[in-house]
Amino acid sequence: MTQCLPAVGPAARRPTRQAKVVWGDTVVRVGGDAPVVVQSMTNTDTADAIATAIQVKELALAGSEIVRITVNTPEAAQAIVAIREQLDRMGVSVPLCGDFHFNGHKLLTQFPECAQALSKYRINPGNMGGGKRRDDNFAQMIEVACRHNKPVRIGVNWGSLDQELLARMMDENQQRAVPLDAQAVMRDALVVSAISNAERAQQLGLPGDAIVLSCKVSHVQDLIAVYRDLSARCDYPLHLGLTEAGMGTKGVVASTAALAVLLQEGIGDTIRISLTPEPGGDRCREVVVAQEILQTMGLRAFTPMVIACPGCGRTTSTVFQELADDIQRYLREQMPVWRTQYPGVESMNVAVMGCVVNGPGESRHADIGISLPGTGEVPAAPVYVDGVRTVTLKGDRIAEEFQVIVQNYIEKRYGRQSGQ
Ligand code: SF4
Repeated sequence: MTQCLPAVGPAARRPTRQAKVVWGDTVVRVGGDAPVVVQSMTNTDTADAIATAIQVKELALAGSEIVRITVNTPEAAQAIVAIREQLDRMGVSVPLCGDFHFNGHKLLTQFPECAQALSKYRINPGNMGGGKRRDDNFAQMIEVACRHNKPVRIGVNWGSLDQELLARMMDENQQRAVPLDAQAVMRDALVVSAISNAERAQQLGLPGDAIVLSCKVSHVQDLIAVYRDLSARCDYPLHLGLTEAGMGTKGVVASTAALAVLLQEGIGDTIRISLTPEPGGDRCREVVVAQEILQTMGLRAFTPMVIACPGCGRTTSTVFQELADDIQRYLREQMPVWRTQYPGVESMNVAVMGCVVNGPGESRHADIGISLPGTGEVPAAPVYVDGVRTVTLKGDRIAEEFQVIVQNYIEKRYGRQSGQ
């Protein structure tokens, strides 16, 4: 009798409309059958056009497919054109999303060249004033989006939730026979705010396929609950992200925990990891983390993956850690060029193992693998290529020689002249 095993892998993506974020010939599709898109956000002063253009370029080279920039002042709005021109001169065509709060209606109206240079607008309906003023400001921004043919992300945030809507929903909740707890009402208010503003944008003339939604919160379980609800109640593409995820390991873990659950359920069309960089830290880390979430889940491939064992008492030297680190860094640094030169290389696996206990087995399953000698083992490092042991490296230059083997393999397997 055949045993039925549970299916492995993420659920089918939830069907959505598809938004297009465009700059020149670059078209980033969000939702529908498009792969989950990686986004990031600058943290330079937007008014400093050169510094911002440099950071956008770094984020784009790291793999960010849309870069968001805050547009908070007239000076920032004026700088957008210079940033876009500078990027175009540098050959960086990544679409820019303008992040607007409070005065977005004024900036987009007063600086039409800024509205045109951006490829997408992020609007937070929770901080556009109250009552009629909010409605008018929102309508003004949507009218600009329609005029310039730009998609909009309606981004609702826990920290700036529409207080009038929340108060009304809290009152209605009190009328229920069994009222929900306040946290549940807040989650519901986020979803209602996002969907009702999207519907209003459509009534104002914005096409339904020019709308992306987000409802960001800072707690993992709330985020999962909100997005499950949101995905069940609309078919707009969804932008996932845990807001204020935090610094260092905590930010990475919290974002991964929340997003992995949702992505596994087929929810989420674009992601941004909101990490607080350490002083002097690399802003591109948020792009790397986003890519690694998607790649380790098998949803997309961006960079050859290094499979490394954790090391243990059998590996008392640091040679193996250094080799794993060197190879990982080397592979990532080459990707801006390799992406076009060696199509398919992003799916390659390289195993770097600390000893012969699991090393040969893991190496055989990778495209290329090496098992370094553990403490007390014969000082020899067997290398496997496509599952076959090819050479055993010895001496002081194991790292350099292994890197040459990796380079040659990539050239042979993924180079255009290979005919594959
Ligand atoms: S492969 Fe060897 S060094 Fe690495 S964790 Fe396993 S036993 Fe330890």
